[in-house]
Amino acid sequence: MKAEIIAVGTELLLGQILNTNAQYLSQELAGMGINVYYQTVVGDNMQRLQHAIEHAAQRADILLLTGGIGPTQDDLTKDALAAVLGRSLHIDRPAMDQVEKFFVNRGISMTENNRRQALVIDGSTPLPNETGLAVGIAIAQDEKFYIVLPGPPKEMKPMFDGQAKPWLLQHALTNEMPIYSKMLKFAGIGESLLEDKLLDLIQAQSDPTIAPYAKEGEVSVRISTKAGSELEAMKKLEALEAQIQKRLPKHMYANTDVPIENMIVNIMADRGLTLSAAESCTGGLLMESITAVPGSSAMFQGGIVCYSNQMKERLLHVPHALLEGEDAPGAVSHEVAEVLAEQVRNITDSDFGLSVTGVAGPAYSERKPVGLVYIGLAERGKKTEVFELRLSGNRETIRIRSVKTLLHHLWL
Ligand code: ATP
Ligand code: MG
Repeated sequence: MKAEIIAVGTELLLGQILNTNAQYLSQELAGMGINVYYQTVVGDNMQRLQHAIEHAAQRADILLLTGGIGPTQDDLTKDALAAVLGRSLHIDRPAMDQVEKFFVNRGISMTENNRRQALVIDGSTPLPNETGLAVGIAIAQDEKFYIVLPGPPKEMKPMFDGQAKPWLLQHALTNEMPIYSKMLKFAGIGESLLEDKLLDLIQAQSDPTIAPYAKEGEVSVRISTKAGSELEAMKKLEALEAQIQKRLPKHMYANTDVPIENMIVNIMADRGLTLSAAESCTGGLLMESITAVPGSSAMFQGGIVCYSNQMKERLLHVPHALLEGEDAPGAVSHEVAEVLAEQVRNITDSDFGLSVTGVAGPAYSERKPVGLVYIGLAERGKKTEVFELRLSGNRETIRIRSVKTLLHHLWL
């Protein structure tokens, strides 16, 4: 089965909004084992919209359209699809009731064009909209499957998950093998090195498949199979997982899609260990990611955002001589990262103290290059470790990567 996503909206073509619907749907379809060969974006224009649908129907079995199903004159998606299929539109009674009720509850009068939101194509299955007003559509014709979804992601996602996906599974994918997959997560290793370590496996395997991903300082590998029964599939995936783990024993930290901070919080809380942090260039991002995990209160003590040199001196007792002066190593240095980690651990009496100090950019600081970051890891009763990082990317990426790398070192 091949699918094509058609995102409708002139504002997409003008670059005013990002086509996140296509991203979401592509991911979902991949998870269902459906190949997406094309994504199309077309403006709110009847002729071009019809053309896009006709074109897509020649090369795909499943067409997913998003956007252009609201009340206004530029919302043409249903009209265009009806025209291509040679069918008429009618008002869906339950959808119309929902629209009318909405206006009654708000105490405002309904304009005539709002009736358009309840339109469906003759012979189609209406897809109720739980978070908005415009009803969606699912219809099969000439062995092709068409789905019409709303543009706003908060309406599109629940309609796809709750209505369109089950419909597709029942109507379009009856003969397809379900796909089973597992996400393996890695710490302290880059995407290219990881791929290198698994290269022969990746090249040799057609089922299960191995796909490495990297995003926001996290590296993961998705392994998927279409093997017959669920039991068979799980066995296959587990065997491959064991093989991968053997190659990267230290680095694999989870076999589900969880961020590293969740694992750290859970393990430290389990073992009764405590943590604190001193952050300069990350301005609290590390503490934010830890405290975002439920249950972090069992292990996280607190920390200090010591952005300026004065704060590093006053709150964390970094010697002035390390920060300023001709021969001082400066705030972004091995020495300062070490003192910060040790001091914050001492002050809070935690088992672990973490620190970050670096140049997030875009401008140089202390004549040091953007992306130079020092991270410190102080552990009770052990010698403090400091790592020098040379990160690339913009300010945001450098900050995120600093945090993730520090968490990875803590994990390892
Ligand atoms: P409405 O009832 O709001 O008019 P609609 O189904 O007609 O919904 P559009 O008018 O095409 O959808 O888009 C409405 C809004 O939905 C857009 O302004 C945008 O914020 C969001 N949206 C539309 N298409 C996409 C897309 N492909 N990706 C992400 N957001 C989108
Ligand atoms: Mg609209």
